[in-house]
Amino acid sequence: MSRLQGKVALITGAGRGIGRGIAEGFVREGTKVAVNDIDGQAAQATVVRLMEMGGEALAVPGDVADESAVQSIVRETLGRFGHIDILVNNAGIATYVPVAEMSSAEWDRTIAVHLRGAFLCTRHVLPHMLEAGRGKIINIASQRGQKGGAGLAHYAAAKAGIIGFTKSLALEVSRHGIHVNAIAPGPIRTGRPASERFHQTVAGLPIGRAGEIEDVVPTAIFLACDDSSFYVGQTLCPNGGDVML
Ligand code: NAP
Repeated sequence: MSRLQGKVALITGAGRGIGRGIAEGFVREGTKVAVNDIDGQAAQATVVRLMEMGGEALAVPGDVADESAVQSIVRETLGRFGHIDILVNNAGIATYVPVAEMSSAEWDRTIAVHLRGAFLCTRHVLPHMLEAGRGKIINIASQRGQKGGAGLAHYAAAKAGIIGFTKSLALEVSRHGIHVNAIAPGPIRTGRPASERFHQTVAGLPIGRAGEIEDVVPTAIFLACDDSSFYVGQTLCPNGGDVML
């Protein structure tokens, strides 16, 4: 039997990129997936793909930084599937701008999507996991949250915050059967046009190549299944050697 057979996952930002790859990986393991994205068409396209793979999936579009939207996302997921076993806080945005030129709106939006979004989704899924006495929460951080990045202060601060959030939440809920961990990928090719900075980062990687979505998916599957049951508040790093802890 597959490791995640019969489980239900809610994955944010799964309309494309790493989130979509994790959704496909989970479906291969027998998981039903609620696909969130701020772009409803992208979420629906992922659902179509998951169903073509033989999976069960539901589009739950909405902005993770908007609390009423998150409440609807969770309500619709529970309405369709009855429970949520796995939450992947993946939705994200990234822009390059030095602090001296950054608007407060750009700062606020980046922090809101990554950090407020992860908090809100967790806040509204957690009561159901606590009631069930089990659950897996996987927060997608970044190597930038560990090493920083010029032009990425807002993003790096949000991702460092995700790591602190992961540890704190793990301290609160681990004894209630809920496992909380993070993944901090290095530079991953996602199909979006790669920036000059992306190429520079890749050129400096010990492994000598960019990461692929499939370099991240096995870590998500591992953290979602019981093979990782002794991992608590950890940040796992599929990063090509960009950061060595
Ligand atoms: P991506 O291809 O841009 O996918 C992210 C998805 O999240 C997009 O579909 C995006 O929609 C959606 N999204 C943005 N804001 C949202 C919101 N407020 N509510 C719901 N969905 C929202 O990015 P990715 O590269 O796969 O990144 C996924 C996660 O991995 C992010 O947290 C990112 O920071 C992290 N990460 C990525 C890398 C990398 O090199 N790719 C490295 C380390 C960490 P729109 O396209 O409409 O904005």
